[in-house]
Amino acid sequence: MANKNYCLMCHESFEEGTGRTVYLTGHEKIEDACCSSECADKYKQKNLEDTVAPLIKTLCNIVNGGSPSALGKALAMSLMREHRYLQAELVNAIAMFCGEYSTEGLEKNRMDARNEAACHQAKRMNVAAYNFSD
Ligand SMILES: [Zn+2]
Repeated sequence: MANKNYCLMCHESFEEGTGRTVYLTGHEKIEDACCSSECADKYKQKNLEDTVAPLIKTLCNIVNGGSPSALGKALAMSLMREHRYLQAELVNAIAMFCGEYSTEGLEKNRMDARNEAACHQAKRMNVAAYNFSD
């Protein structure tokens, strides 16, 4: 009799050996996900969010009492040392971040007086990134 595994995302059981391998950031992988592509996407998204969370915490600690412009300059100079294709990909990700962030704040009501200006600025940056011609 085959052993049963349980998917941590959908909590469905499946026979051992019938699941899928989900490849995560940093060459990590989950061997026993169920065969649903929806669950694979959720594993990947959760892994990304878990990976990014400490980076965001570090950046927030830097601006807490520090200088946003000094951080901006350090980010730019550090990014300039990376592969140019990856620079473009990260800048795209930042533009997309602006859209996601502003949607969370402005449309999903996760905003108050403390982050209202940030949500509006992120919206403007996202609109500028995707609605211009040059
Ligand atoms: Zn699943």
